[in-house]
Amino acid sequence: MNRLVIRGARLLGTESADLLVEDGVITEVGSVSTPSGAEVLDADGLVALPGLVDLHVHLREPGREDAETIATGSAAAAAGGFTAVFAMANTSPVTDTAEAAERVLDLGRACGLTEVVPVGAVTKGLEGAELAELGLMARSRAQVRVFSDDGHCVHDARIMRRALEYIKPFGGVISQHAQDPRLAGREACCHEGEVSGRLGLPGWPGIAEESIVARDVMLARHTGSRVHVAHVSTAGTVEVIRWAKAQGIDVTAEVTPHHLALTTDLLLGYDPVYKVNPPLRPAEDVEALRAALADGTIDAVATDHAPHARHDKEHAFVDAAFGMLGLETALSVVSDVMVRPGLLDWADVARVMSSAPARIGGLAHQGRELAVGSPAHLTLVDPDREVTVDATASRSRSRNNPWHGRTLRGAVLATVHRGRVTHDVRNGAGTRRELTTATTSGADL
Ligand SMILES: [Zn+2]
Repeated sequence: MNRLVIRGARLLGTESADLLVEDGVITEVGSVSTPSGAEVLDADGLVALPGLVDLHVHLREPGREDAETIATGSAAAAAGGFTAVFAMANTSPVTDTAEAAERVLDLGRACGLTEVVPVGAVTKGLEGAELAELGLMARSRAQVRVFSDDGHCVHDARIMRRALEYIKPFGGVISQHAQDPRLAGREACCHEGEVSGRLGLPGWPGIAEESIVARDVMLARHTGSRVHVAHVSTAGTVEVIRWAKAQGIDVTAEVTPHHLALTTDLLLGYDPVYKVNPPLRPAEDVEALRAALADGTIDAVATDHAPHARHDKEHAFVDAAFGMLGLETALSVVSDVMVRPGLLDWADVARVMSSAPARIGGLAHQGRELAVGSPAHLTLVDPDREVTVDATASRSRSRNNPWHGRTLRGAVLATVHRGRVTHDVRNGAGTRRELTTATTSGADL
């Protein structure tokens, strides 16, 4: 039997307790005496959270292994405290069949550092014209529940309606990249407003997002099915979601760490590291997003981790690829911009970064409370540790890190996935444990 004792952790930031983990399950909470042969993880003063769950990552495999692989993305996820990540379908080939979904699942299991959950495409080839094999993906070994054409909007209302009807019987959800392609033109590369005017860059307006979200919540009401709004970026979208939830419509939403912290004026230096889709918005939108996460209008934080090879990102602003890294810094950003000012406490962080995304994504074994009988997925956080982000030290294969050089307060020091320590920098960044790739059983912990 594999035994692990986690000593002296503050559960959700409150009282201190020891945890005994046996064969991947929490079997004792309180004052635990160390059984012989048990591994001991000293967590004195650290905040213990249920393992973080990310509804939105791009792992680039298959197809763009020069930017990221499931192995490097899993390592970045473990370093960021994540025990499950949802891998978006815009790979090459696209995850639009049962076989493709199972391949992603299997590659993730072979790495064993985090649970890699495939997201299925809504439409074949992400082309927006014909529904993908939603039912076959749902019935496959990968048991796909989250479907998204992310990178593209499911802009055809009829296709969106059919998809919502199709997934309803098996409890699926459509995660929508809300962006009307007619309002947000192909050339658009930043928020439409004062800054885009000054830079002479084609912008895309908040209404391109808001109008699709408004339509989709009405389609969710009409079909009685479930919509999830990916990467909410404007105050107007928050208003629509707040209204929809008040009507009892089954809608959930996520916000990225970068939309909670970074504003559109960063683009004044034309640095493509800040080029992202949806774009960075003005400060008043950032304020509204923080308030919405704090009051529960936005359910979850999701990174939209989007690695890009240098030759795709280091271009003139208009030509550079959209996207930023996010897995390794997410908790630190949330700690810095939400916990430190008192907008969220650690129990709230557990909700928005673990239990809510697990529920939205249909993962019954993730995001559970730190109690006897729960699978041992945990993240240990030092709330006071200041970290200065170094893009060159990333586990990701890519370096498009907008946080490089910034100092953030709050850091993940260790991650436990299925009772196994997958990340540990408690003794300083230089003493990271060597991680071996596990040959996992495939048991659904
Ligand atoms: Zn997207």
